[in-house]
Amino acid sequence: MRRGRFAPSPTGELHIGNAFTAVMAWLQMRSVGGDFVLRIEDIDEARCRSHYVAQVMEDLRWLGLDWDEGPDVGGAHGPYQQSARLPEYEAALHQLQVAGYLYPCFCSRAELVQVASAPHGLFADEPRYSGRCRHLTEAQRGARAQQKRPSLRFCAPDKEVVVLDRLIGETRVNPLDGGDFIVRRADGVFSYQLAVVVDDAAMEITDVLRGADLFSSAPRQISLYQALGRRPPTFTHVPLVVDAKGRRLSKRNRSSTVRAMRESGVAAEEIVGVISYLAGLSDSIRPTSPSELVERFDLTRLHKRPVQMDELCMRRLKIYETF
Ligand code: GLU
Repeated sequence: MRRGRFAPSPTGELHIGNAFTAVMAWLQMRSVGGDFVLRIEDIDEARCRSHYVAQVMEDLRWLGLDWDEGPDVGGAHGPYQQSARLPEYEAALHQLQVAGYLYPCFCSRAELVQVASAPHGLFADEPRYSGRCRHLTEAQRGARAQQKRPSLRFCAPDKEVVVLDRLIGETRVNPLDGGDFIVRRADGVFSYQLAVVVDDAAMEITDVLRGADLFSSAPRQISLYQALGRRPPTFTHVPLVVDAKGRRLSKRNRSSTVRAMRESGVAAEEIVGVISYLAGLSDSIRPTSPSELVERFDLTRLHKRPVQMDELCMRRLKIYETF
């Protein structure tokens, strides 16, 4: 049985970019008769707001999407909200620690900037951690732990992994090029990388479809799957939606949120029609529902580059530039 998911973080209202990804992930599963799971990624509670959880679910339903398992409908793989899954992350962390994959990192933010080496390849969007704390002795660790609570880093393996992406194809990458990464922050919060792998494995997700901005996380996640002795899913990274000037549409532009469009009288079918057009599933913008697209869904027709909302799309969805 194929199983896919949509995993929004409730840090703001659902925007057109999130809606695009949600519709694609839903279509990918519905077109093969697979299960679709909704998981709320509220691991970083300081950044999440609980009222967005209900709102995101309502917006998704209003667009015409449904899910077989999720926070409101339950299911055999719950809980479906990360804030309720901390014991699972703790257990995985313990497993990694016992197997020798983790080390404490005492670097401060300022030091991290100072010691970061040049960004590299697939990981070019962030500086690489030098590995400075990897080789501290036990005595040094003990002494530093008196002063400061460390974060925990995962030793990225110096061994090529293959990222199999249904849209982008096969990419070979050495996870160490991105440097050792944090699995638990100094304040005790588990990292996105750890939580997402633990959850996708526990929820038996076979197909991860998400935005292309997360492509650079795939090699790290594959290394975590391997270290935990789990089989990685296949990935599909769909293009990001950008505005007419090539800028990424974000939650900061309120008019690009599903809620704002709905409030200004835009119909759900209109939004899904634009999404289908942007994805390359329809040649023109025609109002439609997600279920009408199921038969037409074909991953090979999807664009690989960022998809641009031209003036016409923006006007139809009543999205305005705010700056
Ligand atoms: N929670 C992440 C986000 O909202 C998505 C994580 C994922 O799909 O792997 O950007």
